[in-house]
Amino acid sequence: MVRKIWSLSFIAFVLVLTSFLPVQSVSANPLSDIPDRSSEEINYLIQRGVIVGFPDGTLKPKDPVTRQEAATLVGRALELNGEKRSTIFPDVPKASYASGYIQSAYDQKIITGYPDGTYQPQNHITRGEMAYLISKAFSLTSTSGTQYSDIPTEGALTTAIDKVSTAGIANGYPDGTYQPGKSITREEFSLLIARGLNPKFKVGGTDTTPDQPIGEKYVSTSILNVRTGPGVSYEKVGKLSLGTKVTIYKEVGDWCQISYNGTRAYVHGAYLLDKLKEKRVIAIDAGHGGYDGGASANSVLEKEVNLAVSKKVRDLLEKSGVEVIMTRNDDTYISLDGRVKHAVDNGADTFVSIHSNAFPNNESVSGIETFYSSAALNDRAYKSYKLASFIHDRLVEAMEMKSRGVKDVPYRVIHATPLPSALVELGFLTNSSDASKLGSTYWQDKASKAIYLGVIDYYNWIDK
Ligand SMILES: [Zn+2]
Repeated sequence: MVRKIWSLSFIAFVLVLTSFLPVQSVSANPLSDIPDRSSEEINYLIQRGVIVGFPDGTLKPKDPVTRQEAATLVGRALELNGEKRSTIFPDVPKASYASGYIQSAYDQKIITGYPDGTYQPQNHITRGEMAYLISKAFSLTSTSGTQYSDIPTEGALTTAIDKVSTAGIANGYPDGTYQPGKSITREEFSLLIARGLNPKFKVGGTDTTPDQPIGEKYVSTSILNVRTGPGVSYEKVGKLSLGTKVTIYKEVGDWCQISYNGTRAYVHGAYLLDKLKEKRVIAIDAGHGGYDGGASANSVLEKEVNLAVSKKVRDLLEKSGVEVIMTRNDDTYISLDGRVKHAVDNGADTFVSIHSNAFPNNESVSGIETFYSSAALNDRAYKSYKLASFIHDRLVEAMEMKSRGVKDVPYRVIHATPLPSALVELGFLTNSSDASKLGSTYWQDKASKAIYLGVIDYYNWIDK
């Protein structure tokens, strides 16, 4: 998609911008007044949608940056949530184009207000304020004792200025001053953002020590995209799989900078966990099999429905990283105790048996019922009840069938076992409506998805 960003005004563009931008290419008209000395950095930001020109096609590089513009630029660079909303500051109403970015930057502790609680969005941002903002936005930690003649020898401002100087993002004037009260131009601010985002633009920094990792985490999703920068508009350079350990060097907004194939790259922090989740192993038990066909009515045979649904459940669980032990994969007879033993011997932590129901003398009986057995030691009974309930609720909703309830009945496969266990009855083959659903691929898919979601609900509950 080509966005004609040049034809939109700064404010109009922000109004249509909600949370983040898709990858975009840039139209042929460069802004007319980009200074040569900073064109590489400014074009880098333009390509990422961080900088937008004025309607007349200019950048106005010498204009000062207001505090609301600063929050917006940083918010776009870090792909914070820019959706307009109420803010903590009385002088930044929801209707303000910058309200979303100002609140997001405040939430991330990147910006603060004045002692009287206001933000003063129209004030020009000063070089001192900018040092705070940039050091927070890019999580700068290294200091080197950088001193300027017009800055106190210690204090929060001194530390912030030391950090941006040490990182090679900002520096002082040739006369040895920093001039913290001076406002900053659009060109200068752009350079700072570009240097924060991409180390290749850094200048004159004294930070020669290799940066230290701040921690290690684990990938919590089946596929996690790795990108060149802290946002979805940056190029994908690879993927990480569930459980991969990553070393983190810094956090930029919601993103984490990690080491990847000998270089640095970014992943979204929402998909990282402090510790690896326990590997989940579930036994899926397709009821009956072989000479034991189970129930049979309305041309539907129970053992076939059970196996078809069980295999679909297996595929869904395996995709989300759960290991599945099948008690049977084909039309074989296995004893009830043999099913439990197979699950336990293969390290299953949970057992789900899948059946279809029958009520030969009354074809009006219909609906879903799910069983657990409370007659057991330890916490297995309550876990079994929760497992049965999560699956039952998902099934009733997905199958559009009557709920016959979650019931405590000591069926052998869910009773004589150390595992939290549930037995599902998908519906009544003796009821023509239930039977036609259970015989169709469409409804078998729905049942499988529901059982899968119920199992995930259960595991999420266990993990809490
Ligand atoms: Zn059965």
